[in-house]
Amino acid sequence: MDLSKKGCGECGTKDAFSLKNVKGHWKHPWKDFPGVFLMVDLNLWECKVCGASAGTPGDAERIDAAVEESIRAQASQFLDVIKSKSGLSFDEIGARLGTAPSYLSSLRTMKKTPSFHLWNILKLLAIDPKVMIERLDPDYDISAENLLLRA
Ligand SMILES: [Zn+2]
Repeated sequence: MDLSKKGCGECGTKDAFSLKNVKGHWKHPWKDFPGVFLMVDLNLWECKVCGASAGTPGDAERIDAAVEESIRAQASQFLDVIKSKSGLSFDEIGARLGTAPSYLSSLRTMKKTPSFHLWNILKLLAIDPKVMIERLDPDYDISAENLLLRA
């Protein structure tokens, strides 16, 4: 659908719209994600003057596909980074996350989309795998740090 001749309802410009590739930081909430870093091309119509967006039929499906592909690719890569930096097996990683091996496997192979909650934890652990090795060890002694303030 060609919207290039469409006038902009926001700023009144004629022939206002062009396709813009929004790959990169896409600052729109998606499900429980407050924003998504898009790793794939996604072309959407946007006003050249004021940036207002205009939807066409099928946009919602294309957005979902691009967003899910990006989130799945990121979660899969976070897991690979965690494994390589921590030296732990995926079974050990799953035990520390409280995640079933089959679910972890479906995240690695990009067959499932994690919640923002789990995606965020994977991101943090990829940045700092030491937390995964030491503090998320099921045998970690929580009395070793001043975590418990109420007796
Ligand atoms: Zn406009």
